[in-house]
Formats: sequence, structure tokens, C-alpha cells
Amino acid sequence: MTAEVSVPKTAPAAKQTRKRILTGDRPTGRLHVGNYVGTLANRVKLQDEYETFLLVADHHMLTTKLDGLSEIEQNIRDDVIDNLAVGVDPEKVTYILQSLVPQIPELHLYFSMLVSVPRVQRIPTLKDQLRDHGLAQPTYGLLGYPVLQAADILIVKGNLVPVGRDQESHIELTREIARRFNELFAPVFPVPEALIPDMGLLPGIDGREKMGKSLDNAIYLGDDSKTVEKKIRSMYTDPNRVRADTPGRVEGNPVFVYHDTFNPDKAEVDDLKSRYREGKVGDAEVKRLLLVAMEKFLAPIRERRAELETKPKLVGEILAAGSERARREATATLREVRQAMHLDYFGR
Ligand code: ATP
Ligand code: MG
Repeated sequence: MTAEVSVPKTAPAAKQTRKRILTGDRPTGRLHVGNYVGTLANRVKLQDEYETFLLVADHHMLTTKLDGLSEIEQNIRDDVIDNLAVGVDPEKVTYILQSLVPQIPELHLYFSMLVSVPRVQRIPTLKDQLRDHGLAQPTYGLLGYPVLQAADILIVKGNLVPVGRDQESHIELTREIARRFNELFAPVFPVPEALIPDMGLLPGIDGREKMGKSLDNAIYLGDDSKTVEKKIRSMYTDPNRVRADTPGRVEGNPVFVYHDTFNPDKAEVDDLKSRYREGKVGDAEVKRLLLVAMEKFLAPIRERRAELETKPKLVGEILAAGSERARREATATLREVRQAMHLDYFGR
């Protein structure tokens, strides 16, 4: 992590020399440790090797959160600050605010003509979204979410998309759209690859299979230590284990999934697992050691977050500079798209 964060100078639209990453978040709230393992860790790891674009997808937020729009600006701030705090460096990475790049919705419109309605209805996340948000039917906008995501990725010709496992089906659709466009019109787009961590999704503290910003089951990167302690204490473990001397289940137990993910002391984790299976350690002790490991991971992020929050203009400046750069890239892509589709009439 660098000590000082500054706003990058806006270089002219770059000639593409390195492969590109497009990645992003919906500004639905502060980022959590699931977002970290699913995608933030890869962003930090790959930012030197790839030319990286990080999209704060405020239009995507509209698909499920029409009731919370007054929070959107704060959510955008939190999202950028969380990314900065874990080390996504704005000197290396282009931060984009989706709504500041109007070329994305235009590309989305063209792409929406290439995808059938049953194809988007079959995307598994749609069912999850309907369930999680208590909706009977998707709106037209929610149905188009993964098509808009294809436009996010392809407007900057992304080659690699680091995402959590829940997004795999979306990237598959992006690949189909890229291929279809290239076949129908001209080879404008790369066919991007998803980069998904092997571990799968991080479960929620309530035992649900996915921790989510909108699911009220997350440990946030900015949570203070008291809050983290409370959340870990209340965490779902093995529901069949009534006493500390009852043999417990380690597999699929979120407390152990978190130990595997955040506790670097593998010998300690192995020892806890075998004692847990034999009924020789209590949940309280397993959770206490998890708290120690989580605090080691979270304390420096929390500190950096607090420092960044003292700079009220920083987020707006980073997004303005990055979005300007993205608009230049997007304009160039759209020019190719309109030409390929014979939509470049009257000099468009
Ligand atoms: P929401 O509940 O509002 O959809 P979210 O927590 O799913 O929020 P997103 O902004 O949709 O967060 O996703 C940002 C990135 O984090 C995506 O790449 C997504 O795949 C990843 N991600 C989200 N939750 C998890 C999780 N529990 N484990 C691993 N990766 C995750
Ligand atoms: Mg999500």
C-alpha cells in the first residue's frame, strides 16, 4: 500500500499495450470481507500486470434499490474508500463512475437486441435477486442487468474480469454477446474471461451461502472492533452442536470457512478442526481465535479508511479523472461499433 493517495493526471486515451481488467461493485453499501476475497484481493494483485478499470456501477444499483436512492452518494464514497483502503491504487487503476460514461447505456441498447428474453430469464442470479428482494416479477431493468454488465466490460474491451462465483453466469453471457456481435458485424470485441477464486463464495455470518451487502449478514471492512466481535460471537456454527463436548461439523461451518480464509496460522486451524470434530473445544474458543485473526486483517484497513475519510474531496476527484479517461476509451469503442453496424450515418 502506498502512503499517499493522489488524483492521477489524465493521460490521453492510451494505445492498448497491456491486457485489460474490468471489475466493479454495485454501490449498495460498504464493502465486506466477502467482496475482499471474491474480487478486491485479485484487483490488488493484478493491478501492476493488467491495465485495470474499476467501475462503480451506480446504474446497476437501480435494478434492486429504488427505495434507498438517497444513500447512493454515501455508498459510492464508501465503495471507493474501501477499494483505496485495501490498496487498489488510483495511480494504476482507472476508477470509473458508470453514470459519468453515457456511452455505456448506448452500447447496452445495441447489445439488448442480441439477446433473447428467455436467455436472460434463465440466468441463475435473477431467481436469487427476486428471492432476496421479495419481488414477484423482475422489472425490465433487472432482467437486463447482465446485458448492461456486458456493456460495462466490453466498452473498455476488458479481457479479464475478476469476480466472485455468483457472477460467473453473467460473464458467460458477456462472452456470448461479444461472439455474437463479432460474427454478425465485425471483430470489435475480445471474448473476456472470468477470474474466480477457487474457494467459492464466502458465506454470511448467518450461515447463508453468500455474504452480501444487501443481505444484512456481512462483516464490513470498515466495521469497528466491537462490531466485529459482536458479529463473530453471534455467528452461525454447527446447529446440531448443543454443548462443547458434542462432536461438531467442520465442513461448511462458516466459522471454519473464515478460519481457512483469514487465519494464516494453518497449524492452529488444523488443531482447532480436529478438536472440534472430537468435541474437545467449544465454539467460544474457536470464535475467539477467529476474532484475533480477523482483527489482524482488518485493523490496518480500518486505519487507512479513517485517514482517507479526512479528505472529503478525494473520491469525487478520483472518479471525475477516471471517468474522463474512460469516456475517451468508450468513445473510441462506440465509433467502431457504430461503423461495424452501419450506424455511423451523418458522421455519428
Ligand atoms: P449486493 O448484495 O448488493 O448484490 P454484493 O455483496 O453481492 O452486494 P456486489 O457489489 O454485487 O456485492 O459485488 C462485488 C463483487 O464482490 C462481485 O465480484 C461479487 O462476485 C463479489 N462478491 C460479492 N459477495 C461475495 C461473497 N460472499 N463471496 C465472494 N465474492 C463476493
Ligand atoms: Mg451482488
